[in-house]
Order: sequence, then structure tokens, then C-alpha cells
Amino acid sequence: LKKGTLKREYVRYGKKGKKLKLVFERFISIFDKHLACVRLTLKPINFNGQINVEFGLDNTLFHGEQKKDNHWNCIETGKIKNNGVYLLTETKNTKFRVLSSFIMANTEDTKWRPIKREKYAGLYTTVKLKKNISIVFERNILNITEKRHKASNGNLKKRLFNIIDKYKFSGYAELLKKQEKKWAEFWQTRDIVIDGSDESQQGIRFCMFHLNQTYRGLDPHLNIGAKGLTGEVYNGSTFWDTETYCLPYYVMTNPKAARNLILYRYKTLDQARKRAVQLNCRGACYPMITLNGEESCGVWEYGNLEVHVSAAVAYAIWHYVMVSGDKKLFYQQGIEVLIEISRYYASRAAKNKRKDEYGLYGVVGPDEYHMMVHNNCYTNYLAKWVFEYTIRTIKDMGEKIPEKLEKILKKIRFKKSEIKKWKNIALKMKIPYDKETKLFEQHDGYYDLPSVDLQKPSFNETLIYKKWPFDKIFRYDVIKQPDVLLLFFLFRNQFNLETKKANFNYYEPKTVHGSSLSPTIHSILAGEIGLHKKAYEYYKYASRLDLDDYNKNTDEGLHITSMSGSWLNIVYGFAGMKVDADILSFDPIVPEKWRFYSFLLTYRGNELKFSVYKKKFKIELLSGTGCKIRVKGKTYQVKKNDREIKI
Ligand code: BGC
Repeated sequence: LKKGTLKREYVRYGKKGKKLKLVFERFISIFDKHLACVRLTLKPINFNGQINVEFGLDNTLFHGEQKKDNHWNCIETGKIKNNGVYLLTETKNTKFRVLSSFIMANTEDTKWRPIKREKYAGLYTTVKLKKNISIVFERNILNITEKRHKASNGNLKKRLFNIIDKYKFSGYAELLKKQEKKWAEFWQTRDIVIDGSDESQQGIRFCMFHLNQTYRGLDPHLNIGAKGLTGEVYNGSTFWDTETYCLPYYVMTNPKAARNLILYRYKTLDQARKRAVQLNCRGACYPMITLNGEESCGVWEYGNLEVHVSAAVAYAIWHYVMVSGDKKLFYQQGIEVLIEISRYYASRAAKNKRKDEYGLYGVVGPDEYHMMVHNNCYTNYLAKWVFEYTIRTIKDMGEKIPEKLEKILKKIRFKKSEIKKWKNIALKMKIPYDKETKLFEQHDGYYDLPSVDLQKPSFNETLIYKKWPFDKIFRYDVIKQPDVLLLFFLFRNQFNLETKKANFNYYEPKTVHGSSLSPTIHSILAGEIGLHKKAYEYYKYASRLDLDDYNKNTDEGLHITSMSGSWLNIVYGFAGMKVDADILSFDPIVPEKWRFYSFLLTYRGNELKFSVYKKKFKIELLSGTGCKIRVKGKTYQVKKNDREIKI
């Protein structure tokens, strides 16, 4: 994790007692997105002899889940000088192209023979082995991808050869040094240190390693796959997980990456507009699941009915601007996206014919165990918030930069009457809240659903959907993941503690955590209402979900969303961070088992380090001009010198 390398070694026993040691070392470069390196060391322990070695690029593999499907068409294969090959392939559906290649480094004396098979390109050689003498093969792998259907095949090859020239086939050791340096920079500026529990420490570092490996924000045309690049379930697709769970991590640790995540949604606005038309609506409807901006969800109930996804995009814009202070993006691309999402909700919302009330009918909320419900509270609340936020932003821009605003409004043929309509819907949007119980009803009729004496599966048991058929799950009040409760994470300052407690106590026992998006939010809320032990248990679940394979499905790919959620657990949860009152504020605790923890953040151009002890809270300004920070309700001005605050 520290260096971003993987080493595997074993001894192979041959039929006649021959023993051969094989050591594989490899890394995926963090300093060059095209590069990966492998070093293979062969050592004959007890024999002299001859061995055939073959290296290859193999696109004949089947999709891990859909066992019989291979997703590649081969366009071309070829040789690169005497020690390399390339394989140009495209995905069958989306026609994304990948030009893969490898060059054997430091093997000038070796005679390589090319091998061609269907969807395969390789090199082959025979070498002599001498007892106890190691022989080393080093392989530089370079991949170039083309998702936008712009570059020609010739152009891709030209780009590849330029990169190859740049490296001049340099060896593994030299490239490894660069890798180590870059990862050291990452840990130095981003590490979370936990004193008191090796389990927790390993858990969070494992998560942060994978987050950095998965997405570093180099390209606004790319997004985060729910499984990162680690498994084929979900096919590398992006969900609303990005905006709601991952963006907060990125905006506080790598604002450039967060910016590109927002730009991704701007760049796919046209696809979202087309989708809205397909659904008989206006504005822009963002997809539940996507690879290229288009809806690719195979289950229509989720794809068509999870209308809360667009609100997540609007919320992410707000979150990004609050933390980064980057108004430029907000006033340029952000506002256009907000208006289109508001238009969508205005056309998707409908009026109750018996009451003077608006709502969203026939939807699925974040809790996917209730299909086609009316007035999912979370969705209604967010849609209302989107209208209000968009209206506020238009007003704000009208006062500050009227000409710029006019230009954008003209471009998207905005009519002033739209604001009036949005105001009315927002005002009359149904938010099912009961003052006496302080409960929000998850959706119309939720309270009437039958309950089961839910023998809640312990964390180590199978997920509920592996035990019960879906129709059984759906007809009870069993909840998959936080729905109403998610509101209290997103709008931390808008609800009082009593309301949070009442809803947590009501909904948590009904939740089976059928999604990895669940434990992390429960941890944050449990901590906030004083259930610290529970908060810690949920944190452990979220941060070690894949390390300990709690759900017995890590082989399908890592749960990247839960990984980001684990970071949120520590910073938004244990440290009690809130960003929604225009000032960064903390209400920290240290879990019982821990003695101390520290984390690093970027907030409005300031690099800050926070150390949390049982009785003190230390803030260091590492760079920037400083900012105000509230700790346990008291505001401090943070300047160059460290601030130590008694807690
Ligand atoms: C959850 C969704 C989530 C998806 C990808 C599903 O199980 O219910 O909310 O977007 O997984 O993580």
C-alpha cells in the first residue's frame, strides 16, 4: 500500500524433482496513466536446463460475471521493434478502443519470436538456466484508451510510439523509484494516522490506497466505477455513489479531481437532456448507471424510477462550491446543470388532485427495496432543495454578474416564468413530517407496511437478498440502505438532534444494509446522536468490508463507495465535521479504542492538518492564508501558528 506494488513468489516443483523459484513483482504506475511494469525473476534451485518463456496480451477472456461473453473485437496486432508487440481492440457495444502493448526491457541479447492468435499478441523465447543463477525479465506495459471515437487507429499508434520513445525501454528499478516517490507524496499529504488500533489503521489506508488508484481526476471524461477497476460486476459503471459518497472525499483531498467529477456531468448534460425527453420530461435526467452519460441500467424500475440521482448531481455542485470556494465553475457550468435538473423535476412532479400539494409519484428512493412508491420523502426533500438552490443561484448571479447570467439563460432558452413555477412546486412539495413523533415517513403508506420480526443477519452472515426472494423483501418494511436517514447526513445543520435521534431509532432497526452504502452513513449518524460504540462497529464494517470480505462478495470487485464512506466516517463522523454553514466546523470525539488520530484536508485553498486527542484538538495550517474554523461551537481564526484547542 505504501509503494503501490505487488509481489508474489512461489517455488514450482517439476516432475523430476526440479525446483524453480518464480518471483513476480508488479505495479500500475501512479505517475503515468499509460504505464504498468512487471519484473519476473526465475531461479532454478537444483538444476541446469532450458525453459520456454512466453509473454502476452490476451483479450480472449470472458466477462467474469456473464461467463460466456467476451466483450472485445480485435482490430489489429503487430510488432514493435524486436522486443515488443501491440494489440488494438475495441469493446463490442460502446466501441471504446484500447491499444495495449508491451516492450521487454533490458533484454537486448534475447531473441524474441512474435506469436499471433485470435485477440492475442505475444512474444516467445527459449533461455538457458544455470543452477542458482537468477534470470530476470522486465516488461513495460503501455495502454492507450480512446473513448470519444475521435482519434484514428493510426493516430493512437503514433501516440503509443511517442510514449515508448520517451521511456527508451527503461528498466523496472528506475521506474519503481518514480512510483515510490509519487506514492510517498500521496501519503505525506493525505494519510490518516490512527493510534490505538492496527485494524482501523490498516482499514482506512487500504481504502485510501484504492481510492487514489481508482480515480485521481486526470480527465473530466472519466468517472468512478462503483467497483473501481477491480471487478466486472457493474461493468465499470458509474452511479450516484460518485456524487453523494465519493465527491466529499475528493473535494477535501484533491479538489481538482472533484472539479473533474462535476465537469463529467456537465460534459454529459446532452445525454441527460435526451434521457429526459425519452422519459417524457423536460430538462436533464441523469442516469442511474452509466459508462458514457447514457442510461445503461438493465432493470427499468431502477433506471427509470430512481429520480433522486439528478438531485445528487445538484447536491454535489453545492458541496463542491461550499468546500472549494470555486465560484467560476459554479457560475459557468454549474448553473446550467442546476437549471436543467430543476426543469426535469418541475416536469416530473405532479399535483395531488385532492390536496393543494405537489409530489413525485412512481419512484424508487435510495432504499431500493420499495418499488414504484409515491412521495419518497428523501426524493421530495431533495427536489424541493434543488428548486430553492437554483432560484437562489440565479438571483445571486443576477446581482453579481448579470451579463454572464443573461448569456447562459439565453443559450438554454430560459423563461422567467419557470422560476414562478418552481417556487410554487417547492412551496407545496409534500414533506411527510410528523411534529409529535418527529418522524419523516419514508414514502406514502410506509407506516402501513407489515413488519417482520427481523432476525437481522449479523455482519458475517449472508446478505438478505441471498436468503429471501425479492418479492418477499419488498412487501415488508425492511429497508436496504439509508433513505430518510441520508437526509441527516446531507443536510447536517438543518435538523436538530431530537429529530435525528427519533428517526435513527425508528429506521435503523429496519435496515439490513443490503448495500455497501449503508454502514458508513449509519456510523456517522450514530456518532452524532451519542451512540459511539455503534458508530465504531459500523466504521469497522465499512472500512474493512473488503479486507475481511464481510459480505462474501469481494471477488466481484471492491466496494469503492464504502471506501470513500470510511474516510467520511472518520472526518465527518468521529471528527464531527460539517461544511454546510459556510464555515468549517468540528465536534470531535476519539473512539474508545483509539488514543489519537490525524487527518489532512484542503479547504478553500488552505491545506490543514488536524490531530484529535482525547482532550485536545490541534489544527495546523500547512499552506494558504488561513480560515475560520468552529470547534464545539466556538469560532477560531486559524493562521500560520498551530492552534491547540482543549476539548
Ligand atoms: C445500491 C445503489 C448503489 C449501487 C452501486 C446498489 O446496491 O442500492 O444505491 O448506487 O448499489 O453501489
